[in-house]
Amino acid sequence: MPEPRPDTQQVIAENREYTLFSWSVQQQTHPIHMTGGRGSYFYDGDGNTWLDFSSQLINLNVGHQHPKVLEAIKAQVDSMCFAGPSFATDVRAELGKKLAEVTGLAKSFFTLGGSEANENAIKIAKLYTGRDKIITRYRSYHGATMGSMSASGDPRRWPVEPGIPGIVRVFDPYMYRPPMGGSASEWEDGCITHIEEVIQLEGPHTIAAMLVEGITGSNGVLIPPDSYYPRLRALLDKYDILLIDDEVMSGFGRTGKWLATQHYGIVPDIVTCAKGLTSGYMPLGAVVVNQKIADYFENHFLAGGLTYSGHPVSLAAAIANLKVYEEEHLFEHTLELGNYLGERLEAMKRKYACVGDVRSIGLFSVLELVRDKKTKEPLAPYNGTSPEMAKLAAHIKSKHVYAFSRFNMLWVCPPLVITKEELDAGLAVYEEALALVDEMIGA
Ligand code: PLP
Repeated sequence: MPEPRPDTQQVIAENREYTLFSWSVQQQTHPIHMTGGRGSYFYDGDGNTWLDFSSQLINLNVGHQHPKVLEAIKAQVDSMCFAGPSFATDVRAELGKKLAEVTGLAKSFFTLGGSEANENAIKIAKLYTGRDKIITRYRSYHGATMGSMSASGDPRRWPVEPGIPGIVRVFDPYMYRPPMGGSASEWEDGCITHIEEVIQLEGPHTIAAMLVEGITGSNGVLIPPDSYYPRLRALLDKYDILLIDDEVMSGFGRTGKWLATQHYGIVPDIVTCAKGLTSGYMPLGAVVVNQKIADYFENHFLAGGLTYSGHPVSLAAAIANLKVYEEEHLFEHTLELGNYLGERLEAMKRKYACVGDVRSIGLFSVLELVRDKKTKEPLAPYNGTSPEMAKLAAHIKSKHVYAFSRFNMLWVCPPLVITKEELDAGLAVYEEALALVDEMIGA
Protein backbone atom coordinates (compact mmCIF):
# COMPACT_ATOMS: atom_id res chain seq x y z
CA MET A 1 0.00 0.00 0.00
CA PRO A 2 1.33 3.47 -0.84
CA GLU A 3 1.98 5.87 2.05
CA PRO A 4 -0.14 9.05 2.21
CA ARG A 5 1.90 12.15 1.38
CA PRO A 6 1.60 15.09 3.79
CA ASP A 7 2.20 17.61 0.95
CA THR A 8 -0.41 16.29 -1.48
CA GLN A 9 -2.79 19.26 -1.22
CA GLN A 10 0.13 21.63 -1.81
CA VAL A 11 1.25 19.70 -4.90
CA ILE A 12 -2.27 19.88 -6.33
CA ALA A 13 -2.54 23.59 -5.49
CA GLU A 14 0.78 24.37 -7.21
CA ASN A 15 -0.16 22.31 -10.26
CA ARG A 16 -3.32 24.38 -10.53
CA GLU A 17 -1.59 27.69 -9.77
CA TYR A 18 1.32 27.33 -12.21
CA THR A 19 0.17 25.00 -14.99
CA LEU A 20 -2.69 24.79 -17.47
CA PHE A 21 -4.71 21.58 -17.76
CA SER A 22 -5.92 20.41 -21.18
CA TRP A 23 -9.53 20.46 -22.40
CA SER A 24 -10.78 22.24 -19.26
CA VAL A 25 -12.06 25.41 -17.75
CA GLN A 26 -9.20 25.75 -15.26
CA GLN A 27 -11.42 26.58 -12.26
CA GLN A 28 -13.23 23.28 -12.75
CA THR A 29 -10.19 20.99 -12.73
CA HIS A 30 -9.82 18.51 -9.87
CA PRO A 31 -6.60 16.63 -10.63
CA ILE A 32 -5.67 13.49 -8.71
CA HIS A 33 -2.09 13.64 -7.34
CA MET A 34 -0.61 10.53 -8.92
CA THR A 35 2.44 9.17 -7.11
CA GLY A 36 3.13 5.84 -8.79
CA GLY A 37 1.60 2.64 -10.08
CA ARG A 38 2.03 -1.01 -10.92
CA GLY A 39 0.24 -3.07 -13.55
CA SER A 40 -3.47 -2.21 -13.60
CA TYR A 41 -3.24 0.07 -10.55
CA PHE A 42 -1.97 3.54 -9.72
CA TYR A 43 -1.60 5.35 -6.41
CA ASP A 44 -2.57 8.82 -5.22
CA GLY A 45 -1.08 11.18 -2.65
CA ASP A 46 -3.78 10.33 -0.09
CA GLY A 47 -2.57 6.73 -0.10
CA ASN A 48 -5.40 5.36 -2.26
CA THR A 49 -4.96 2.62 -4.85
CA TRP A 50 -6.95 3.11 -8.07
CA LEU A 51 -7.92 0.46 -10.60
CA ASP A 52 -7.05 2.01 -13.96
CA PHE A 53 -10.03 1.06 -16.14
CA SER A 54 -9.01 3.57 -18.81
CA SER A 55 -5.25 2.81 -19.18
CA GLN A 56 -4.79 6.55 -18.50
CA LEU A 57 -5.76 8.01 -21.92
CA ILE A 58 -6.31 4.55 -23.42
CA ASN A 59 -2.58 4.36 -24.04
CA LEU A 60 -0.91 2.55 -21.14
CA ASN A 61 -1.33 -0.87 -22.74
CA VAL A 62 1.37 -2.76 -20.81
CA GLY A 63 0.18 -1.22 -17.54
CA HIS A 64 1.98 0.98 -15.06
CA GLN A 65 5.76 0.63 -14.54
CA HIS A 66 6.44 -2.47 -16.62
CA PRO A 67 10.02 -3.44 -15.62
CA LYS A 68 11.16 -4.45 -19.13
CA VAL A 69 10.21 -1.09 -20.66
CA LEU A 70 11.77 0.79 -17.74
CA GLU A 71 15.03 -1.15 -18.16
CA ALA A 72 15.20 -0.41 -21.89
CA ILE A 73 14.68 3.30 -21.28
CA LYS A 74 17.40 3.37 -18.63
CA ALA A 75 19.84 1.48 -20.89
CA GLN A 76 19.22 3.89 -23.80
CA VAL A 77 19.66 6.94 -21.55
CA ASP A 78 23.02 5.56 -20.43
CA SER A 79 24.27 4.72 -23.92
CA MET A 80 22.97 7.70 -25.96
CA CYS A 81 20.22 10.01 -24.83
CA PHE A 82 19.82 12.04 -27.99
CA ALA A 83 20.70 12.05 -31.68
CA GLY A 84 19.38 14.64 -34.14
CA PRO A 85 16.79 13.53 -36.70
CA SER A 86 19.27 13.34 -39.59
CA PHE A 87 21.43 10.69 -37.86
CA ALA A 88 21.20 6.94 -38.31
CA THR A 89 20.80 5.07 -35.02
CA ASP A 90 20.49 1.44 -33.98
CA VAL A 91 17.06 1.94 -32.48
CA ARG A 92 15.76 3.76 -35.55
CA ALA A 93 16.75 0.84 -37.78
CA GLU A 94 15.21 -1.70 -35.40
CA LEU A 95 11.88 0.05 -34.85
CA GLY A 96 11.49 1.06 -38.52
CA LYS A 97 11.95 -2.57 -39.55
CA LYS A 98 9.51 -3.82 -36.91
CA LEU A 99 6.81 -1.31 -37.89
CA ALA A 100 7.13 -2.32 -41.55
CA GLU A 101 6.68 -5.96 -40.48
CA VAL A 102 3.62 -5.46 -38.27
CA THR A 103 1.76 -3.01 -40.54
CA GLY A 104 2.64 -4.59 -43.90
CA LEU A 105 3.83 -1.14 -45.06
CA ALA A 106 7.29 0.20 -45.93
CA LYS A 107 8.77 3.19 -44.07
CA SER A 108 8.14 5.20 -40.91
CA PHE A 109 8.40 8.91 -40.18
CA PHE A 110 8.62 9.45 -36.41
CA THR A 111 6.75 12.13 -34.49
CA LEU A 112 6.13 12.81 -30.81
CA GLY A 113 2.48 11.75 -30.63
CA GLY A 114 -0.74 11.07 -32.47
CA SER A 115 -1.70 14.63 -33.40
CA GLU A 116 1.64 15.23 -35.08
CA ALA A 117 1.42 11.85 -36.79
CA ASN A 118 -1.91 12.79 -38.37
CA GLU A 119 -0.64 16.27 -39.18
CA ASN A 120 2.26 14.74 -41.10
CA ALA A 121 0.14 12.03 -42.71
CA ILE A 122 -2.16 14.71 -44.13
CA LYS A 123 0.84 16.63 -45.44
CA ILE A 124 2.43 13.52 -46.97
CA ALA A 125 -0.86 12.59 -48.67
CA LYS A 126 -1.15 16.07 -50.16
CA LEU A 127 2.48 16.11 -51.33
CA TYR A 128 2.24 12.64 -52.85
CA THR A 129 -1.09 13.07 -54.68
CA GLY A 130 -0.87 16.78 -55.49
CA ARG A 131 -4.50 17.00 -54.31
CA ASP A 132 -5.90 19.15 -51.48
CA LYS A 133 -8.97 17.65 -49.86
CA ILE A 134 -9.15 15.12 -47.04
CA ILE A 135 -12.33 13.18 -46.25
CA THR A 136 -12.88 12.47 -42.55
CA ARG A 137 -15.85 11.31 -40.48
CA TYR A 138 -18.09 13.29 -38.12
CA ARG A 139 -17.68 11.08 -35.07
CA SER A 140 -13.91 11.18 -35.00
CA TYR A 141 -10.96 12.63 -33.14
CA HIS A 142 -7.55 12.95 -34.77
CA GLY A 143 -5.67 15.28 -32.42
CA ALA A 144 -5.26 18.81 -31.13
CA THR A 145 -2.75 20.46 -33.48
CA MET A 146 -4.29 22.78 -36.05
CA GLY A 147 -4.53 20.27 -38.91
CA SER A 148 -5.46 17.21 -36.88
CA MET A 149 -7.96 19.18 -34.79
CA SER A 150 -9.67 20.53 -37.90
CA ALA A 151 -9.65 17.07 -39.45
CA SER A 152 -11.52 15.75 -36.40
CA GLY A 153 -15.29 15.58 -36.60
CA ASP A 154 -16.36 15.78 -32.98
CA PRO A 155 -17.02 19.02 -31.04
CA ARG A 156 -13.38 19.37 -30.06
CA ARG A 157 -12.82 20.86 -33.53
CA TRP A 158 -15.33 23.69 -33.05
CA PRO A 159 -12.94 26.16 -31.32
CA VAL A 160 -10.51 26.16 -34.29
CA GLU A 161 -13.07 26.41 -37.06
CA PRO A 162 -12.90 27.03 -39.93
CA GLY A 163 -9.54 25.29 -39.39
CA ILE A 164 -7.41 24.11 -42.29
CA PRO A 165 -9.08 24.21 -45.70
CA GLY A 166 -10.12 21.12 -47.63
CA ILE A 167 -11.69 18.92 -44.93
CA VAL A 168 -14.86 17.17 -46.12
CA ARG A 169 -16.81 15.05 -43.63
CA VAL A 170 -18.98 11.97 -44.11
CA PHE A 171 -21.14 9.90 -41.77
CA ASP A 172 -19.90 7.01 -39.66
CA PRO A 173 -20.60 3.29 -39.50
CA TYR A 174 -22.65 3.95 -36.35
CA MET A 175 -24.96 0.98 -36.54
CA TYR A 176 -26.90 1.68 -33.33
CA ARG A 177 -28.01 5.07 -34.65
CA PRO A 178 -27.95 5.12 -38.46
CA PRO A 179 -27.72 8.83 -39.34
CA MET A 180 -30.58 8.88 -41.88
CA GLY A 181 -32.91 7.17 -39.42
CA GLY A 182 -33.10 3.94 -41.44
CA SER A 183 -32.41 0.42 -40.20
CA ALA A 184 -28.93 -0.91 -39.43
CA SER A 185 -29.10 -3.21 -42.47
CA GLU A 186 -29.98 -0.30 -44.78
CA TRP A 187 -27.14 1.71 -43.29
CA GLU A 188 -24.65 -1.10 -43.88
CA ASP A 189 -25.02 -0.29 -47.56
CA GLY A 190 -25.59 3.45 -47.11
CA CYS A 191 -22.51 4.08 -45.00
CA ILE A 192 -20.39 3.30 -48.08
CA THR A 193 -22.65 4.43 -50.93
CA HIS A 194 -23.04 7.95 -49.54
CA ILE A 195 -19.23 8.27 -49.45
CA GLU A 196 -19.11 7.56 -53.18
CA GLU A 197 -21.70 10.26 -53.75
CA VAL A 198 -19.67 12.73 -51.69
CA ILE A 199 -16.54 11.83 -53.69
CA GLN A 200 -18.36 12.46 -56.96
CA LEU A 201 -19.84 15.76 -55.78
CA GLU A 202 -16.49 16.99 -54.45
CA GLY A 203 -14.59 15.84 -57.54
CA PRO A 204 -12.42 12.73 -57.12
CA HIS A 205 -9.40 14.53 -58.64
CA THR A 206 -9.48 17.03 -55.73
CA ILE A 207 -9.34 14.44 -52.92
CA ALA A 208 -5.96 13.29 -51.60
CA ALA A 209 -7.05 10.87 -48.89
CA MET A 210 -9.68 9.62 -46.52
CA LEU A 211 -8.56 9.67 -42.88
CA VAL A 212 -10.40 7.28 -40.55
CA GLU A 213 -9.84 5.86 -37.09
CA GLY A 214 -9.31 2.09 -37.50
CA ILE A 215 -12.08 1.72 -34.95
CA THR A 216 -13.45 5.03 -33.70
CA GLY A 217 -12.44 5.37 -30.06
CA SER A 218 -13.38 8.47 -28.10
CA ASN A 219 -16.64 8.85 -30.02
CA GLY A 220 -17.91 5.50 -28.83
CA VAL A 221 -16.06 2.40 -30.11
CA LEU A 222 -17.97 2.35 -33.39
CA ILE A 223 -17.39 -1.14 -34.75
CA PRO A 224 -18.11 -1.21 -38.49
CA PRO A 225 -19.94 -4.06 -40.21
CA ASP A 226 -17.57 -6.68 -41.68
CA SER A 227 -18.22 -5.40 -45.20
CA TYR A 228 -17.24 -1.80 -44.42
CA TYR A 229 -13.47 -1.83 -44.84
CA PRO A 230 -13.22 -4.13 -47.87
CA ARG A 231 -15.83 -1.96 -49.64
CA LEU A 232 -14.19 1.29 -48.53
CA ARG A 233 -10.77 0.07 -49.69
CA ALA A 234 -12.21 -0.82 -53.13
CA LEU A 235 -14.05 2.51 -53.38
CA LEU A 236 -10.97 4.58 -52.59
CA ASP A 237 -8.85 2.50 -55.00
CA LYS A 238 -11.40 3.20 -57.73
CA TYR A 239 -10.72 6.93 -57.41
CA ASP A 240 -6.99 6.75 -56.49
CA ILE A 241 -7.70 8.21 -53.07
CA LEU A 242 -5.35 7.18 -50.25
CA LEU A 243 -6.63 5.45 -47.12
CA ILE A 244 -5.02 6.86 -43.96
CA ASP A 245 -5.74 4.59 -41.02
CA ASP A 246 -5.46 6.41 -37.66
CA GLU A 247 -4.57 3.60 -35.27
CA VAL A 248 -3.46 5.94 -32.49
CA MET A 249 -6.07 4.54 -30.09
CA SER A 250 -7.29 1.33 -31.72
CA GLY A 251 -3.86 -0.02 -32.69
CA PHE A 252 -1.11 -1.95 -30.92
CA GLY A 253 -3.13 -4.59 -29.17
CA ARG A 254 -6.13 -2.63 -27.94
CA THR A 255 -8.40 -4.83 -30.13
CA GLY A 256 -6.10 -7.87 -29.94
CA LYS A 257 -4.27 -7.10 -33.22
CA TRP A 258 -1.52 -4.73 -34.31
CA LEU A 259 -4.07 -2.68 -36.23
CA ALA A 260 -7.85 -2.70 -35.82
CA THR A 261 -8.24 -2.78 -39.61
CA GLN A 262 -6.42 -6.15 -39.64
CA HIS A 263 -9.68 -7.65 -38.34
CA TYR A 264 -11.14 -6.84 -41.77
CA GLY A 265 -8.29 -8.08 -43.99
CA ILE A 266 -7.38 -4.78 -45.63
CA VAL A 267 -4.09 -2.88 -45.86
CA PRO A 268 -4.21 0.93 -45.66
CA ASP A 269 -1.82 3.19 -47.60
CA ILE A 270 -0.72 5.09 -44.51
CA VAL A 271 -1.00 4.14 -40.85
CA THR A 272 -0.64 6.65 -38.02
CA CYS A 273 0.10 5.41 -34.52
CA ALA A 274 1.17 6.66 -31.08
CA LYS A 275 -0.29 5.77 -27.63
CA GLY A 276 0.16 1.95 -27.53
CA LEU A 277 3.37 2.22 -29.56
CA THR A 278 5.27 2.98 -26.34
CA SER A 279 2.35 2.42 -23.93
CA GLY A 280 2.98 6.06 -23.05
CA TYR A 281 6.35 5.42 -21.37
CA MET A 282 7.95 7.96 -23.73
CA PRO A 283 6.27 10.30 -26.23
CA LEU A 284 6.26 8.80 -29.73
CA GLY A 285 4.12 8.68 -32.83
CA ALA A 286 4.73 7.35 -36.32
CA VAL A 287 3.44 7.78 -39.86
CA VAL A 288 4.00 4.50 -41.68
CA VAL A 289 3.68 4.71 -45.47
CA ASN A 290 3.38 2.09 -48.19
CA GLN A 291 6.08 1.26 -50.74
CA LYS A 292 4.69 3.54 -53.47
CA ILE A 293 4.68 6.57 -51.20
CA ALA A 294 8.12 5.67 -49.85
CA ASP A 295 9.41 5.39 -53.44
CA TYR A 296 7.95 8.78 -54.34
CA PHE A 297 10.04 10.44 -51.63
CA GLU A 298 13.21 8.78 -53.00
CA ASN A 299 13.39 11.61 -55.53
CA HIS A 300 10.94 14.18 -54.15
CA PHE A 301 11.53 16.50 -51.21
CA LEU A 302 9.92 15.51 -47.89
CA ALA A 303 8.95 18.95 -46.66
CA GLY A 304 8.74 18.36 -42.92
CA GLY A 305 10.75 17.57 -39.81
CA LEU A 306 10.87 17.75 -36.03
CA THR A 307 13.86 18.26 -33.73
CA TYR A 308 12.76 15.20 -31.77
CA SER A 309 11.83 12.99 -34.73
CA GLY A 310 13.37 9.59 -33.97
CA HIS A 311 14.27 10.43 -30.37
CA PRO A 312 16.41 7.44 -29.31
CA VAL A 313 14.87 7.06 -25.84
CA SER A 314 11.34 7.01 -27.28
CA LEU A 315 12.37 4.47 -29.91
CA ALA A 316 14.02 2.25 -27.30
CA ALA A 317 10.85 2.39 -25.20
CA ALA A 318 8.77 1.39 -28.23
CA ILE A 319 11.03 -1.56 -29.12
CA ALA A 320 10.86 -2.90 -25.56
CA ASN A 321 7.11 -2.31 -25.37
CA LEU A 322 6.46 -4.22 -28.61
CA LYS A 323 8.62 -7.08 -27.29
CA VAL A 324 6.47 -7.21 -24.16
CA TYR A 325 3.36 -7.59 -26.34
CA GLU A 326 4.92 -10.59 -28.05
CA GLU A 327 6.82 -12.24 -25.19
CA GLU A 328 3.88 -12.01 -22.81
CA HIS A 329 1.30 -12.98 -25.48
CA LEU A 330 -0.71 -9.89 -24.62
CA PHE A 331 -2.75 -9.83 -27.84
CA GLU A 332 -3.91 -13.42 -27.24
CA HIS A 333 -4.77 -12.47 -23.66
CA THR A 334 -6.65 -9.41 -24.92
CA LEU A 335 -8.73 -11.46 -27.35
CA GLU A 336 -9.52 -14.09 -24.74
CA LEU A 337 -10.36 -11.68 -21.94
CA GLY A 338 -12.12 -9.46 -24.48
CA ASN A 339 -14.56 -12.30 -25.26
CA TYR A 340 -15.33 -12.61 -21.57
CA LEU A 341 -15.72 -8.83 -21.23
CA GLY A 342 -18.08 -8.76 -24.22
CA GLU A 343 -20.27 -11.43 -22.58
CA ARG A 344 -20.30 -9.55 -19.27
CA LEU A 345 -21.33 -6.33 -21.01
CA GLU A 346 -24.09 -8.08 -22.95
CA ALA A 347 -25.39 -9.46 -19.65
CA MET A 348 -25.43 -5.90 -18.25
CA LYS A 349 -27.43 -4.77 -21.26
CA ARG A 350 -30.03 -7.40 -20.46
CA LYS A 351 -30.05 -6.56 -16.75
CA TYR A 352 -30.08 -2.72 -16.69
CA ALA A 353 -32.73 -0.58 -18.36
CA CYS A 354 -30.24 2.25 -18.98
CA VAL A 355 -27.84 0.18 -21.12
CA GLY A 356 -28.98 0.73 -24.70
CA ASP A 357 -26.03 -0.70 -26.59
CA VAL A 358 -22.68 -2.31 -25.91
CA ARG A 359 -19.81 -2.35 -28.38
CA SER A 360 -16.73 -4.34 -27.59
CA ILE A 361 -13.68 -5.69 -29.41
CA GLY A 362 -10.65 -6.91 -27.45
CA LEU A 363 -10.28 -4.62 -24.44
CA PHE A 364 -11.85 -1.69 -26.30
CA SER A 365 -15.41 -1.39 -25.05
CA VAL A 366 -18.20 1.06 -24.43
CA LEU A 367 -21.64 1.05 -22.83
CA GLU A 368 -24.04 3.49 -24.50
CA LEU A 369 -26.63 4.66 -21.97
CA VAL A 370 -30.23 5.64 -22.66
CA ARG A 371 -33.37 6.77 -20.82
CA ASP A 372 -35.49 4.31 -22.75
CA LYS A 373 -34.30 1.29 -24.72
CA LYS A 374 -37.16 1.59 -27.21
CA THR A 375 -36.80 5.27 -28.11
CA LYS A 376 -32.99 5.17 -27.58
CA GLU A 377 -33.18 8.64 -26.02
CA PRO A 378 -29.59 9.26 -24.84
CA LEU A 379 -28.92 9.54 -21.10
CA ALA A 380 -27.09 12.81 -21.88
CA PRO A 381 -27.24 14.95 -25.01
CA TYR A 382 -24.47 14.99 -27.64
CA ASN A 383 -21.65 17.16 -26.28
CA GLY A 384 -23.46 17.45 -22.94
CA THR A 385 -23.95 15.75 -19.60
CA SER A 386 -26.86 15.03 -17.24
CA PRO A 387 -27.43 14.44 -13.51
CA GLU A 388 -27.54 10.70 -14.20
CA MET A 389 -24.19 10.65 -16.02
CA ALA A 390 -22.68 12.83 -13.27
CA LYS A 391 -23.94 10.42 -10.61
CA LEU A 392 -22.62 7.41 -12.50
CA ALA A 393 -19.14 8.96 -12.87
CA ALA A 394 -19.08 10.16 -9.23
CA HIS A 395 -19.98 6.70 -7.92
CA ILE A 396 -17.27 4.97 -9.95
CA LYS A 397 -14.71 7.57 -8.84
CA SER A 398 -15.72 7.21 -5.19
CA LYS A 399 -14.74 3.52 -5.43
CA HIS A 400 -11.32 4.44 -6.84
CA VAL A 401 -11.96 3.00 -10.26
CA TYR A 402 -10.53 5.32 -12.90
CA ALA A 403 -12.93 5.36 -15.86
CA PHE A 404 -13.51 7.36 -19.02
CA SER A 405 -17.04 8.62 -19.61
CA ARG A 406 -18.24 11.18 -22.12
CA PHE A 407 -21.71 12.35 -23.25
CA ASN A 408 -23.93 9.24 -22.69
CA MET A 409 -21.13 6.70 -22.84
CA LEU A 410 -18.94 4.80 -20.41
CA TRP A 411 -15.77 3.02 -21.61
CA VAL A 412 -13.99 -0.12 -20.39
CA CYS A 413 -10.37 0.09 -21.64
CA PRO A 414 -8.06 -1.36 -18.98
CA PRO A 415 -4.37 -2.12 -19.52
CA LEU A 416 -3.93 -5.27 -21.61
CA VAL A 417 -2.16 -6.93 -18.66
CA ILE A 418 -5.32 -6.83 -16.52
CA THR A 419 -6.35 -10.14 -14.94
CA LYS A 420 -9.88 -11.57 -14.95
CA GLU A 421 -10.17 -10.93 -11.19
CA GLU A 422 -9.20 -7.26 -11.62
CA LEU A 423 -11.63 -6.91 -14.51
CA ASP A 424 -14.41 -8.43 -12.41
CA ALA A 425 -13.67 -6.01 -9.55
CA GLY A 426 -14.04 -2.99 -11.86
CA LEU A 427 -17.18 -4.35 -13.52
CA ALA A 428 -18.78 -4.90 -10.10
CA VAL A 429 -18.39 -1.16 -9.45
CA TYR A 430 -19.84 -0.36 -12.89
CA GLU A 431 -22.86 -2.55 -12.04
CA GLU A 432 -23.46 -0.61 -8.80
CA ALA A 433 -23.36 2.64 -10.79
CA LEU A 434 -25.75 1.32 -13.45
CA ALA A 435 -28.20 0.24 -10.74
CA LEU A 436 -28.12 3.81 -9.37
CA VAL A 437 -28.89 5.19 -12.83
CA ASP A 438 -31.79 2.74 -13.25
CA GLU A 439 -33.22 4.05 -9.96
CA MET A 440 -32.87 7.66 -11.14
CA ILE A 441 -34.68 7.03 -14.43
CA GLY A 442 -37.39 5.12 -12.56
CA ALA A 443 -36.78 1.81 -14.32
N1 PLP B 1 -5.99 10.00 -33.04
C1 PLP B 1 -6.78 9.33 -32.21
C2 PLP B 1 -7.69 8.27 -32.74
C3 PLP B 1 -6.76 9.60 -30.84
O1 PLP B 1 -7.59 8.94 -30.01
C4 PLP B 1 -5.88 10.59 -30.36
C5 PLP B 1 -5.82 10.92 -28.91
O2 PLP B 1 -6.65 10.55 -28.13
C6 PLP B 1 -5.07 11.28 -31.26
C7 PLP B 1 -5.13 10.95 -32.60
C8 PLP B 1 -4.12 12.35 -30.80
O3 PLP B 1 -3.00 11.78 -30.22
P1 PLP B 1 -2.07 12.61 -29.21
O4 PLP B 1 -2.94 13.01 -28.06
O5 PLP B 1 -0.96 11.66 -28.88
O6 PLP B 1 -1.56 13.80 -29.96
